[in-house]
Amino acid sequence: MDASKVAYIVIHCADTPPEMDIGAVEIDRWHKANGWDGCGYHFVIRRNGVIESGRPLDINAAPGWQSAIGAHVAGLNSQALGVCLVGGKGGTPDFRVQQWESLAHLVETLTRIAPAAEIVGHRDLDKGKLCPGFDVRTWWADWRQHGAD
Ligand SMILES: [Zn+2]
Repeated sequence: MDASKVAYIVIHCADTPPEMDIGAVEIDRWHKANGWDGCGYHFVIRRNGVIESGRPLDINAAPGWQSAIGAHVAGLNSQALGVCLVGGKGGTPDFRVQQWESLAHLVETLTRIAPAAEIVGHRDLDKGKLCPGFDVRTWWADWRQHGAD
C-alpha cells in the first residue's frame, strides 16, 4: 500500500477497561489468536500515551513508502491505516489526556504522509460498531482549530 492509496486513517479503541494497561504486544497476541497475521493496527496508543508500532509502516521511505496492509476495518483494509487507543470499554471514550495528545500528533504526522486520507472512526465505516466511542471527525476538526487548548 503506498501513500496515494490511503483513503482513510481509522481510529479504534481496544474495548478494554480503564485500569487495563496493555499495548501492541498484547493486541498482537489477541489478533494471532483470531488467526490473523498479528496486530491488525498500524499503531497502538497505550494508557500512558506512548505510541507503539503494530503492523509495520515505513514512514521514512516516502515517496512510495510501503506499509503492511492492516486488519481493522472490514472491506477497506487495503486503503486504510489503523490507530488503536487502549481503553474505551463498551464505547465509553475514557481516554487519558496523554492519549488524546499522542493521537493528535500521530494523526498530524500521518496526514503529512497521506494527505488525501480522511480521518474517521471505525463506526463511521462500519455502522454496526461503537468503536472508538467518539465522533472522530468532530474531534479532529476541533483539534485543528484549537490545538491542545
Ligand atoms: Zn475498531
